[in-house]
Amino acid sequence: MPRKNRRAPRTPGYILPRDGSTFIGTQEMEGPSWTHGEMYCVRQIGAAAAVKFYVCPRCNQNISPGVAHVVAWPRDSGRGVDDRRHWHRHCWERR
Ligand SMILES: [Zn+2]
Repeated sequence: MPRKNRRAPRTPGYILPRDGSTFIGTQEMEGPSWTHGEMYCVRQIGAAAAVKFYVCPRCNQNISPGVAHVVAWPRDSGRGVDDRRHWHRHCWERR
């Protein structure tokens, strides 16, 4: 009896490139309320892993290197991790 594998490649967007440790800790979860319940893949970026400037799509402010933040992308967009955005933690979580 084959074991049920929840990472089965049914959703193309969930196949992630094997580029090492950056994908450890990616969680599949329902987005905050403003996403209207869309399923997201979410990764917590620690301060040490934040080495570039990003622009948060919610507040249009920079996320500076060294600032712990959240990377998230819609699980079912079909573009997968290519659709990822970097968000301030408080912007991701606020309503
Ligand atoms: Zn923000």
